[in-house]
Amino acid sequence: MNIPLRRLPLFVAALLAASAIPAALADSALGRGIEHALDLHRIALGNSGRYTLEVAAATLYSATQDAVGAERHWRDALAAAKSPAQRMYALQMLAENQLVAGNYDAGIETAQQLLKLSSTEQHAGYRAQAVGFLGRIARRRGELQEAYAFQQESLRIARAANRPADAALALVNIGTVLRDMGRYSEAMDVQLQALDIRKQLGPGNRVDVPYRNIGLLYREIEDTQSAREYLEKAIAAAREEFDPAALSSALGSYATLLNDVGEATLALDTARRAMDIDRRLGDRQGIALERLEASRALIALKRWEEAEVEIDAALRLGESMRQADVLGRALLYRGDLHAGEGQLAAAEAAYGRSLDYLTRAKLKPQLHAAYKAMEELLAARGEVGQALAYARQRASLREELLGVTAARRLAVLELKQDRERAERQVEMLRLDNSLKELNLRTETLRRRIGIGFIAMLVVLLGLVFWRWREAHRTAKVLVRKNAEISAQDEALRAANARLTAQANDLFRAATTDPLTALTNRGHVMQQMIELFDRHKAQGARLSLLLIDLDRFKPINDSMGHQFGDRVLIAAARVLREEMRDGDPLGRYGGEEFIAALPGASSDEALVTAERLRLAMQRRMGMLEGQAIDLTASIGLAELHETGAGSLSALIAAADDALYRAKDLGRNRTEIARSGSDRRKPT
Ligand code: GH3
Ligand code: MG
Ligand code: MG
Repeated sequence: MNIPLRRLPLFVAALLAASAIPAALADSALGRGIEHALDLHRIALGNSGRYTLEVAAATLYSATQDAVGAERHWRDALAAAKSPAQRMYALQMLAENQLVAGNYDAGIETAQQLLKLSSTEQHAGYRAQAVGFLGRIARRRGELQEAYAFQQESLRIARAANRPADAALALVNIGTVLRDMGRYSEAMDVQLQALDIRKQLGPGNRVDVPYRNIGLLYREIEDTQSAREYLEKAIAAAREEFDPAALSSALGSYATLLNDVGEATLALDTARRAMDIDRRLGDRQGIALERLEASRALIALKRWEEAEVEIDAALRLGESMRQADVLGRALLYRGDLHAGEGQLAAAEAAYGRSLDYLTRAKLKPQLHAAYKAMEELLAARGEVGQALAYARQRASLREELLGVTAARRLAVLELKQDRERAERQVEMLRLDNSLKELNLRTETLRRRIGIGFIAMLVVLLGLVFWRWREAHRTAKVLVRKNAEISAQDEALRAANARLTAQANDLFRAATTDPLTALTNRGHVMQQMIELFDRHKAQGARLSLLLIDLDRFKPINDSMGHQFGDRVLIAAARVLREEMRDGDPLGRYGGEEFIAALPGASSDEALVTAERLRLAMQRRMGMLEGQAIDLTASIGLAELHETGAGSLSALIAAADDALYRAKDLGRNRTEIARSGSDRRKPT
């Protein structure tokens, strides 16, 4: 095996530890074996690696629960330490051992060294612990104000350096001091704070200590139910931590409670289990307290001899540690023991001595018990005066205790309420968180639903699109059909137009004179009838002209019938152009025309007739280069002036006037007169 020299001490220590621990379980002479092995290795290694070796040895002693051996090796480790870190570690472990062993003066010295070194090294953790040690020793010596100040300082350092484990330790110690001061609710509060921190820090952080302290606080306000609950938790936690010191403390406290509630057998058993551990740890104070509880139980069980052994041992320890509370209680129980055995004088002496210590240690319940015992003893002896004095002291103490207990209970109750309220708030926060989480989940769900909704929308849109395409197709068909219909419509309209045109042609053909293109006789007579009837009914003027071309026959005869036709056409155009548009004009017969002038009197009509006649004369002098000198004669008849009762009467009147115009030499207009002087037939 090839081991580097630097690692050798560690290797040796490990080897030692591995070989020694199983032996420790069986062999009480282990210490000697370890020392021998260490000597051999010191010689082998010289000073190199000695620190590691000593630490290993000290740890080994602690593991085998030998506080004295451990303390010695921690000192050696300190001497061998090469770095400040090594020195601080050794000092801390040494101080702890001295405290456990009850070497308070040495402990103070060590703690102060540690404080000085950790201050120079600016190591907050060790500083907090050093100050904490000073506080713990001050408390054990009954210097409560100093102890409180030290622990507060330790807490301040730990908090400033953000070291929760050190802060928790300081809180536990503050709680213990506060309890000693009688400030129960504050004590409870800081213990609960320490418990919370250590629970958060997880395994290896001594939750048993605050559990035990809280249990003790409950015990002192006589809430035995809660006290038992917390002490049992402390024992369970200590077992889990495999920490014998923790277990012995928890068991010791539990024994006290069991004695309080009168379960003496169980109390004795528990106290003895604690004591076994204390012995192995070399914890003298622990042993003393366990012995006191054992003696209490034994007295209750009236096992006097065994009780005496325990009390004597406790007294010796109390004396060597100069601990007033141990001495006061041991003497009190010795008094009880003597009183139980009927040795009243010895009992009185013991009670008397116990009163001093108990007063000094301020152990009020025990003091009360001592007053009561003295009072009873003196009363039994007939020393009424002295008995009364004790009775008075006892009464006032009892009143105080009752009051204090009541006040403490109240304060603790209030604290409990506050804590519960705080826990409820935490619970509310938790609920709030889970609500938020739920909301988040709902939100996610909602989003998913949203996505589903969108998917549905897409499907719907698809459907709508499909429907739209269908509709679009149908629309296209419709458009085509519409186009077809329009085409049909168009064709129809064209056909209609054609028909209308044909109808118009037919109408024109039916109403137009084919030669002259004037209205034919049938149609113009129809117009005349309508005009006549309307004007007659309205009493309106209506003039009628009969126009006959003069000496036409000779034109036909000389120029030919076809030329005569063209003359007729030209004459008709002249008439049409000279007549007002809209006034009826038609071909009445061969070369004879008829015209109506609605609303015109005979005088007014005469103007028109003359215009026609003069135009004829002017425009029909020549046709196609042939001089024709065509003129016209006009007969004019007005409805009212002639008094015509019918259209034919009016035409007849006009015809008469026309004949007269012919008779009077032609190319002139004649107006029919009333009474109608019809010309004689020629
Ligand atoms: P008057 O001044 O007395 O009216 O003499 P006239 O020759 O005009 O009268 P008459 O009644 O003797 O003759 C009318 C002639 O008109 C007879 C006929 O041949 C001719 N005529 C009638 N209709 C047409 C026609 O459509 N074409 C042609 N070319 N001649 C026609
Ligand atoms: Mg004529
Ligand atoms: Mg004629």
